[in-house]
Amino acid sequence: MEEKIEYPLDVKYCGVCSLPLEYCEYTAEYEKCKEWLKANIPDAYKALIGQVADQLGDMEVSEGAAKKKQTRGGKGVVRAPKKKNVTKKVALSRAQRNKKKYVTVVTGLGTFDIDLKKAAKIFAQKYSCGSSVTGDDEIVIQGDVLDDLLDFIPEKWPEIDDDSIEDLGDQKR
Ligand SMILES: [Zn+2]
Repeated sequence: MEEKIEYPLDVKYCGVCSLPLEYCEYTAEYEKCKEWLKANIPDAYKALIGQVADQLGDMEVSEGAAKKKQTRGGKGVVRAPKKKNVTKKVALSRAQRNKKKYVTVVTGLGTFDIDLKKAAKIFAQKYSCGSSVTGDDEIVIQGDVLDDLLDFIPEKWPEIDDDSIEDLGDQKR
């Protein structure tokens, strides 16, 4: 190495790979580098080993945290574990109340862990009409909005794709 390179920092070079010490770990001779370092610049060796140990420590911590999040689920964006044996399917149907009035029935939003009360409210706002939770996993919207829902539902809840929505058409209620 040339001795008179002036750096603002005191850069030390490795006697094995001739790179600045912080690059040793990227070389094929890293093990030799470490031995050289241990013998020649023990302080730097300790610092380097300490640094690697810290990095490993951090990784373990963050992996552990991620696993906890996955298994706990629930809060925020992390969704609760899926219920087993439940087919995720949203079904839309229309029922005629009298000659001119239809209601649209949405079932299955619950299978996507969607809050039915909130969904009913969203429909009410979207279509400016009555909309309420009427059963275990059923929302009735006062109006014929079935065709629009086919587009609106996957738009509003991207986890529900077109294939998961069944159009049952007109049903008697
Ligand atoms: Zn080296």
